[in-house]
Amino acid sequence: MLAILHPDVDEDSLEYRQTWEYLEQLPGVELSVNTIQGKTRKLTEIYLLGNTAAVDLDQVAALPAVERAIRISEGYRVLGRHTEGERETGFVYNGVEFSQETFNVLPGLCAVDNPANVETMMKALQENGHTLTRMGAYKPRTNPYSFQGHGKECLPYVFELAGQYGIKVISMEVTHESHIEEIDTALEKLGRPTGVLLQVGTRNSQNFELLKAIGRQKTYPALVKRGFGITLSDSLNAAEYLASEGNSNVIFCLRGMRSDLGAPHRMMVDFGHVPTVKRLTRMPVCVDPSHSVGTRHGAPDGILDIAHVSAQGVVAGANLVLVDFHPNPEEALVDGAQALRIEELPQYLADIELAWQTYQQRLKIWNPA
Ligand code: PEP
Ligand code: MN
Repeated sequence: MLAILHPDVDEDSLEYRQTWEYLEQLPGVELSVNTIQGKTRKLTEIYLLGNTAAVDLDQVAALPAVERAIRISEGYRVLGRHTEGERETGFVYNGVEFSQETFNVLPGLCAVDNPANVETMMKALQENGHTLTRMGAYKPRTNPYSFQGHGKECLPYVFELAGQYGIKVISMEVTHESHIEEIDTALEKLGRPTGVLLQVGTRNSQNFELLKAIGRQKTYPALVKRGFGITLSDSLNAAEYLASEGNSNVIFCLRGMRSDLGAPHRMMVDFGHVPTVKRLTRMPVCVDPSHSVGTRHGAPDGILDIAHVSAQGVVAGANLVLVDFHPNPEEALVDGAQALRIEELPQYLADIELAWQTYQQRLKIWNPA
């Protein structure tokens, strides 16, 4: 069961204390609190876990701090939409709003290689009015002898340059719990010039201890990639792991499925699931066209496959696009074959902006006033 409190209710208020005291004494029921910082207000939800069959829904709904009470039977307890459908989606981090209604693009380096390329990338973003990016410092590689990323050594210059070029959020994969601490220490040392979105890679989508560790902290939101060889439901449960530990600021990212049937693309593009994830959960949905297509091949119409599938995801309502760029793809240490060129950034951004506008038009067609 879920008790949604009145917006902005104060934890020190009498209503809150009376509500808490009542819920706390329910036999066999454990409580878990989840707060969501929206753009204009703070929402608090109290989850009643355990044996809630005997709990009276109307009595919970009548408690002084409670606005609504909902019985939850389905999965994805925190992140799911459930039957009521009207709860807010998303969160605000470092001044940027992420929700099922907003649209953000995160173009950047798959892997940080050197300060010059980081600077070139960030400068291009600033020139194009963009404040979000991706930069990999810890790279999970299939081959143990492949470049594993510069790790914590590169964090100081990445964060410092981000501050210089007005970058607000960097999506950065972490492959071990200790990386969260390394990122936090580096940011703190520099006076937090930028923000980090902790990325969980497809290969770690069932690394439950990593998921729990990211969920235990609330400083950084997370972007969880779909596992490339597991069901959608298993991947949504991966995201729910974070929420179950207290961090519900989670973005879900589709990035293609491992299947020979996707060839000649690297993966089978799965962006048809964009609306499905929105129906099942309240998470903002991201698409990663780079890791799903995996090549710079294009159609005879002059448009790269990566741009085509980006548009497909965005036209279907994707809220974010995570995409690889590189100043010199031939020299990239990771995934150069799929990196778009910096010179292609303006046209790529114009193209997906058009796709987002098209989605807005589609909303009007299907939801007449
Ligand atoms: C990445 O985004 O750099 C990455 C490794 O992606 P994935 O986990 O989807 O393979
Ligand atoms: Mn990559």
